Amino acid sequence: MAYEVSIIRCGTYDDDRLRAAVEASLKPLGGLSSVVKKGDRVLIKLNLLNAKRPEQAVTTHPAVAKAIVRMVQDTGGVPVLGDSPGGSSTGTSYKNLLKTTGIQAVADETGCEIASFDEAAEVTPERARTYKKLKIARAVTDADVVIGLPKLKTHSLTYYTGAVKLLYGYIPGVTKTEYHLHTGRDVSLFAEMLLDIYEARPPDLYVMDAVVGMEGNGPSGGTPRDIGLIMASRSATAMDFVATAVVGMDPLAVPTVKRAFERGTGPGSLDDIMVHGESVAAVLVKDFKKARTMSMSRVPPALMGVMTRLGGSRPQIDKSKCVKCGVCAKDCPPKAIAFVKGSVPKIDYGKCIRCYCCQELCPQNAVSVRTPLLRRLIK
Ligand code: SF4
Ligand code: SF4
Repeated sequence: MAYEVSIIRCGTYDDDRLRAAVEASLKPLGGLSSVVKKGDRVLIKLNLLNAKRPEQAVTTHPAVAKAIVRMVQDTGGVPVLGDSPGGSSTGTSYKNLLKTTGIQAVADETGCEIASFDEAAEVTPERARTYKKLKIARAVTDADVVIGLPKLKTHSLTYYTGAVKLLYGYIPGVTKTEYHLHTGRDVSLFAEMLLDIYEARPPDLYVMDAVVGMEGNGPSGGTPRDIGLIMASRSATAMDFVATAVVGMDPLAVPTVKRAFERGTGPGSLDDIMVHGESVAAVLVKDFKKARTMSMSRVPPALMGVMTRLGGSRPQIDKSKCVKCGVCAKDCPPKAIAFVKGSVPKIDYGKCIRCYCCQELCPQNAVSVRTPLLRRLIK
């Protein structure tokens, strides 16, 4: 069986118990030493979406990052932490992000370097469906080994964000905006681009932080949800298949999982995956709240255009929560948000491509997803 995923119960971010769970998850996959050799430069790719505290469950928990850093050091490798956050976070705002998420403290305690993702290198995915050449961070191409540490969360655009979606953070800074504009409202095309990025430089190993995940209005404004698991795999697509099944989603309703299967780079059924540790049935989270937009996954492709016009979800700003900071307007890819200092921004839905970057990046969780009545009826 080509695909393997481990599922280990872990209901705590306590250092020792977490490390024991991570080691147990890697054991059936050959252990960390099967991937990391002495002297290897090991990029530990985090999810650092925005400046949220660890308990808000938006970013990879620092305890998971610390466990992997220590394990890489014990194996003789040289760990480097990094990610390119959402939007145009650079300089002072990036320093603040590293402090708030607890990643700076991990670097200080372990002596681990934090890589800059600002400098780009060009890569050519062999079977690219979107861009023939992609710009990804040089920190990724320079690494001997890449270990991805995704967080299990919902996502308004892609319904779920895990191992494959994590790799959008390979793309430096505002180049992400350019790529969002390229795929527009087509979530399937966006999924193809994520898979192009994945195939250009697949991480060698993934350890998923599913101790506390996020349900509902993810990936930033949802609700933290105890899941109590650490998962590991060498395959992002198999990990995403298993993780979505664990939280009660139909894996093939998730665009990245479906397209990976169609491209021949991902499983099409749990029967294609050897699951070590706990079974999916034993750890199933039956009442996990999915992203509101996920009901669109049931619409046949031929009707998608009409449904998007008549009943498509859209971002909505809650005036009572908005502090009029303008972050959403600054990072909106098609510049669909008009912002005048001192006023709540206004969204031009004719220009809006439903990428939900505004929802991801709003520091106040003031952007939610509005689902029209027609859509609620087809749920
Ligand atoms: S980012 Fe959020 S708080 Fe800031 S202006 Fe936009 S909606 Fe308001
Ligand atoms: S308004 Fe929000 S969802 Fe629409 S294009 Fe701008 S950032 Fe994306």
